Amino acid sequence: MNHDDENNISIKETIKNKIKDKIKKELLEEIYNELQLEEDELTDEISDMLTQKIADNKLKITHSVKNASKPEKKIEFETKTLEEIPKEIYISVKTVLKVASHALKSANSKIPKKKWVEVIGLLAGKLDDNTDIIHIEDAFPMGHGTAVYAEIKDYKNYTRAYHDIKKQKLFICGWYHSHPSYGCWLSAEDMGTQARYQKLWDKSVALVIDPYQIDGKSTGFEIYRADIKANTWYPLVYDIKGSLDIKMLPEILEFINPIIEGKALYLEYDED
Ligand SMILES: [Zn+2]
Repeated sequence: MNHDDENNISIKETIKNKIKDKIKKELLEEIYNELQLEEDELTDEISDMLTQKIADNKLKITHSVKNASKPEKKIEFETKTLEEIPKEIYISVKTVLKVASHALKSANSKIPKKKWVEVIGLLAGKLDDNTDIIHIEDAFPMGHGTAVYAEIKDYKNYTRAYHDIKKQKLFICGWYHSHPSYGCWLSAEDMGTQARYQKLWDKSVALVIDPYQIDGKSTGFEIYRADIKANTWYPLVYDIKGSLDIKMLPEILEFINPIIEGKALYLEYDED
């Protein structure tokens, strides 16, 4: 091999190596780009999955099934707590205690269950014209009826109550009656009574109490209004004024029980 030959080989070798390097570099770049792309896709996919997972978890907490496929709308459901739902009625603690104790007077553990009867009374309050919210301030016990039906029998008593309510600068905004141990709803007779009240005032309400549902978790009552045309009824959203803790209700009623039975709340030992 002469010198020229050697030189030629060397040049060839160099070119070959250069081409090899170039191909290597290009190939590596291509692989790198592909990997980068895949990584980006994966990152997107993973972040999508995570977002979905977070959204799913949030959904579970709120029990909101609506708009499950549109996470951006879920926020509305998450932030609305029970306290934030607009109320249609505010009822005073006095009314709650009066209605509950009246219901218990004719249906309690000292009376055999088959002798339990319903009680009935009037609800007095006022309307806030700006908000359209009814404020039930007081209850006026009227009487009691059969096991499944109570009505205001004496019109004289109704008139007496009407004047007492007017004196307090309130008006009759509805009526209440009890369903001792058979839940809160409006029967066909109840619907008839409610229709009469709504004829007098279209915003009149019907409170139904089952004192045996007062268990520390429930107030034991619902407040309804009737859709006269459709012959149906629906519950209204209410809250107790002054935020009475429902957990305390059974204990308070137990404490005032002697009054319900017509006895002194308590006696001193000296009085015995
Ligand atoms: Zn009823």
